[in-house]
Amino acid sequence: MLLTISTTHRPAADLGRLLHKHPERFQTFELSFGKAHVYYPEVTAERCSACLLLEVDSVGLVRNRNPDQGFVLAQYVNDRPYAASSFLSVAIAQVFGSALQGRCKDRPELVTTAIPLAARVDVLPVRGGEQFLHRVFEPLGYQVEAARAPLDERFPEWGASPYFAVTVRKTTTLSELLTHLYVLVPVFDNCKHYWVGDAEMEKLLARGEGWLASHPEKEEITRRYLRYQPSLIRMSLARLVEEEEEGAGTADGEQPTVEPELGLEQPISLNEQRVGAVLAALRASGARRVLDLGCGEGKLLRELMRDRQFEQIVGMDVSIRTLEIAQRRLKVDRLSPAQANRLELIHGSLMYRDRRLEGFDAAAVVEVVEHLDPPRLSAFERVLFEFAKPRVVVLTTPNREYNACWDTLPAGSFRHPDHRFEWTRGEFQDWASGLADRFGYAVRFLAVGPEHPDLGSPTQLGVFTRPS
Ligand code: SAH
Repeated sequence: MLLTISTTHRPAADLGRLLHKHPERFQTFELSFGKAHVYYPEVTAERCSACLLLEVDSVGLVRNRNPDQGFVLAQYVNDRPYAASSFLSVAIAQVFGSALQGRCKDRPELVTTAIPLAARVDVLPVRGGEQFLHRVFEPLGYQVEAARAPLDERFPEWGASPYFAVTVRKTTTLSELLTHLYVLVPVFDNCKHYWVGDAEMEKLLARGEGWLASHPEKEEITRRYLRYQPSLIRMSLARLVEEEEEGAGTADGEQPTVEPELGLEQPISLNEQRVGAVLAALRASGARRVLDLGCGEGKLLRELMRDRQFEQIVGMDVSIRTLEIAQRRLKVDRLSPAQANRLELIHGSLMYRDRRLEGFDAAAVVEVVEHLDPPRLSAFERVLFEFAKPRVVVLTTPNREYNACWDTLPAGSFRHPDHRFEWTRGEFQDWASGLADRFGYAVRFLAVGPEHPDLGSPTQLGVFTRPS
């Protein structure tokens, strides 16, 4: 599930300040229902985009919530992992809490400045169809672009799905945009994930302050938000009417309720953060056909399979034994034919030109280059950047400087016995920039994992993009 917020406001990097998330860092937050990753796919002088990627653990959710309930297939096989829903609202409140509440300590004037903003939700379930989308966003001053997804791209005769890729644009404050999304995403989905009670009504009223009372669809919005609980709906509609009569501001002058900002930065393994970072970069690139080169035991492949954006997924590794483990872990023998069609595991080496690697949108190369002998790196560079030539390459490697932070790692040794080298940030960036220049790619760098002020983060990530 992916939300992308973009601005053409200058300086574009103000978006990072408003969101309280640094554009050069990939950040991961543990939420009660899964993980949220924040990443900036685009930071130029003219444009800045930030992604909020949610990984909803639907199996974990069901297990945690209903320990006594029997197996109910619909609880496992559902759209929650990829469709925008009230989980997105919770993530907005928890990860972008300050921005939602319009707080920015360093630059308070920014918060109240209207800037040109666009928000894209990749998979928004819209019960009620496209017209409802326009009827809700347009009175609030948004331009709406919506593209409906087919039920199954391979079978157009099955017709359209209830899912839309939606972009809304408006020159407004970030806080207002986030507030509208917070309230409206679950309204379109019309399927709340947690119990609706008085607290929900209070949240709706607080977040609806100043715009909901005068919205022509206020009744439908309220009805859906409160999931058809008549008493709550009547009460909140009555209060909205009061607000309309008294003008903006809460009737009794109290402060709107706000979610507490949680201590979110709980430890998540570096492995998980790395997979999340690569996944977010691949998603943000819009790639549909992807390669995982040196896929190992298939950690990234598993996440790619869970996301329907990726229609063709190929994992390649030089080690047959590793591929066998990947095959077992991914339960390849038990996949449905449709799922099995999306995935292919191939045996091959990054040292040799390979036609099977041509024609892909993106390639991930995660913790692989440090396994290659330095004199052979140039062969790898040509195989990938000259011949396979995907539009985007997401590549990670250890940052040697950070090794000093690990007491258990003797000074001067590598993290893994098979590593042929480990690069400092300078070495990696020199190598990556040089090769980007030679093969006509642009490259951006991100730090993944906890950041030491002098030594950086444990993992360094480069996103190479070939201008189309
Ligand atoms: N990407 C995986 C595995 C990283 S370990 C992960 O992040 O978990 C490095 C992997 O690269 C190993 O599985 C190793 O077999 C593979 N590898 C090493 N040299 C290779 C080569 N020349 N071609 C393809 N894969 C290679």
